[in-house]
Parts: sequence; C-alpha cells; structure tokens
Amino acid sequence: MDFSERVLELARQADEAIAPALARIDEIARKNTQKVLAAFQTHRVAEAYFAGTTGYGSDDRGREILDQVFATTFGAEDALVRIQMVSGTHTLICALFGVLRPGDEMISLFGPPYDTLQTAIGIVGHETGTLLEYGIRYSQVDPNENNEPDLPEIIRVCAERRPRLALIQRSRGYSTRAALSIETIRTLAEAVHQASPETVVMVDNCYGEFTDTLEPTQVGADLMAGSLIKNPGGGIAPMGGYIAGRHDLVEGAASRLTAPGIGRDNGATLGQNRLLYQGFFLAPHTVAQALKTAVFCAKMMELMGFETSPAWDAARSDIVQVIALGSGDALLRFCRGIQMGSPVDSFVIPEAWPMAGYEDPVVMAAGAFVSGASIELSCDGPMREPYLAYLQGGLTYESGRLGILLAAEELLK
Ligand SMILES: *Cc1c(COP(=O)(O)O)cnc(C)c1O
Repeated sequence: MDFSERVLELARQADEAIAPALARIDEIARKNTQKVLAAFQTHRVAEAYFAGTTGYGSDDRGREILDQVFATTFGAEDALVRIQMVSGTHTLICALFGVLRPGDEMISLFGPPYDTLQTAIGIVGHETGTLLEYGIRYSQVDPNENNEPDLPEIIRVCAERRPRLALIQRSRGYSTRAALSIETIRTLAEAVHQASPETVVMVDNCYGEFTDTLEPTQVGADLMAGSLIKNPGGGIAPMGGYIAGRHDLVEGAASRLTAPGIGRDNGATLGQNRLLYQGFFLAPHTVAQALKTAVFCAKMMELMGFETSPAWDAARSDIVQVIALGSGDALLRFCRGIQMGSPVDSFVIPEAWPMAGYEDPVVMAAGAFVSGASIELSCDGPMREPYLAYLQGGLTYESGRLGILLAAEELLK
C-alpha cells in the first residue's frame, strides 16, 4: 500500500477539515454507548444468557432479555430480536403483515419504499404472497418540488383516507433524496397522528440506528424495524433483524414470523445470543466508525472535484454516502479501490454486471466477514448517468479510511 504524495496531501487536508465533524460523531457515540450500557445494566444481562437453545427454543432467557435490552435502548414498549429474520426485507415485511389486514391501506409518506420492499409489497414484479395479493392497498405521497416530504399533502391524504399504516423510510437507500432526520420523523409522525389517530406510523430504520441520539420510536413512531447485519449488529451479529415499538404491534409481527399462538415463544438461538449482545453493545461505536469513513470520503471526493451527498459537514441520519463520479470508468475505478481495501476478497476485481430488477448493469464492491453485511465497507452503483457510487460501512475508521485512500489512488491513476 504505497500511497502517492498527491493522495497523502489530499488526505492531510481532509483530516484537518473534518476534525470538528468527527468530534460530533464521537459525541453521538458516547451518548448512545451510555444508552446501550444502561439498558444492559437495567436488565441485568448475565453470562448465563449466552448459552444457546436448540429445537423449539422454548424458555430462552437470553433471547427474552435481549428483546428487552433493544426495547429499553430504543425507548420502545417492546421489541423482537431474532436470528430467524433472514434479512432487512424479511423483517420489514413481517412487521407490515403483522399490522395490515385485507382491505387495509398502507401509504408510503415519502416516495416509493426500498426496492426489495416494493417487490414484497407487490407494486413491482409479479411475486406470489405479496401484500397486494392479500388485498392490502398501497398508495404513496411523492416528495415535493424541493425533494422533501410534502407535509400538507400527507396531512390531507391521511385525514381523508385514514390509512391503517403510514410508512416512513429513514435512510435514503438507493434514492437521490436525503435521509430523514429524527426531527423530521417527529414532525411526520405528529402530523399523521393528528390527521388520523388510528394510523400506525412505521419507520424503516435500516442504516439509521445510532446515527443520532434518538430513534424513531422515541419521537412518535409506533413501530420500526431494521437489519442486524447493518447498524445494530455492530458488525458482529451473523444474521437477523429486530422490530421495536408498541407491544400489540410487536406481538402481531411475532405471530407472523412464527405462527399465531406461538409468536415469540419459539425460536432457538443456537448459541448466537452472545454475538447479538456483543454486536449491540459495540453498535454505537461501529456506526461512528462508518459515519467517520463516510465523512472522510465526502471530503476527499470533494477535494478531488466530485459532487457528494450528503456534504462532509452536513448532519447525517444514515450511514450512506453518495458520490457522483461522472463516468463509468471512474465508478469502476472507485469500486475497485474500495474492494482492494477490504480485509476479505481484496484480490477480486469488481465488474459491472446485469442484475435482476435493475435496468442497467451494477458494479459492487464488498469484502466482508459477514456475507452481504453493509455495516462493513461496501460500495455499489448502477452504470448510468450520473454514475453514482453508494458507499457505506467501515468496521473501523482506520480501515475505512484506507479503503477511501485506495479508491482515490485508483481514480488518480
Ligand atoms: C438494506 C435496506 C433494506 C432491506 O434490507 P435487506 O437486508 O437488503 O433485505 C430496506 N430498507 C433500507 C432503507 C435498507 O437500507
């Protein structure tokens, strides 16, 4: 890893400029670590909880207490944390199926939801078992002309239609709109509840956990869900998801995840409890590492003349960093540099490839300990104008920073 004088000079400039932004991230991590540690202590987490169960997994004390640790940390009435949730999409659709019944309407408050969720809801593709197939109706309020939530329209639609559920996606995901701040989520939840008190406000919290000192369930959301191979798994959880919020809604999701009458009482933990506890304990710190990597990346790329979103000094509500690389060649080089910076599969050379569900070929870079874990340094982008790279993760700032330096080196070659 021999870096050129040019890249090292840019890095020095970036380091100096971003120091105050990194200090703000440290402060958030300090507060969130205190939140998590206090929850561990409140629930008297003990070594005995790390013993696993098999089979039905009845009476798994470690699993039951972990649910409570998540609930307390997130200021929620209840939570369900399970390795049986196979992905973020599975977790989110469990939560949705737990709430919605035939004839109900769900409304997405800020444009369409995440790609895989669109398929699961049934508004894209022709899969079987979608919400639409079960007679649930879907509608959405699009962003306004400033690419922000259209609050007057949201209030009007909620008051008029009284939807059963309103969905808010916190992270930008793979869209061009910004992540929603906790304060904006508070405003949206209040507006929906005022217009239609019975509507369940649910937040897709993927990529958002611990990027701020409050979570959606602490500012009015009735329910939220996320993936354990992203932020709240701390880079340690090998799989799983969590759902947190109102007790009756969490119970509904548990009924859907397993079976009515069984709900949360089954689900062997197979010796994974320790990793889920340890990952959650580390998560505030790990998220800070990913945020610092994103900020460093934004500053470096800005210095190299690329447009970035969010800007390095902007407030963040997710771990995603977008860089407009302007050409297919630059996007490929960037991703190859990120791949070279990975601890696993560093020797692999990413190529753009056609992918199911995408119109253009997509290039991806990832070399992770947990397959597909995007809390680890990873990056991808579709091969089309303006050649956007979506970067996220970084288990340690030191390694994430090296990945960015390698990407910068590739871009300058
Ligand atoms: C990752 C993600 C999902 C889906 O999670 P998978 O684990 O990829 O199924 C949904 N919503 C958002 C905002 C995400 O970032």
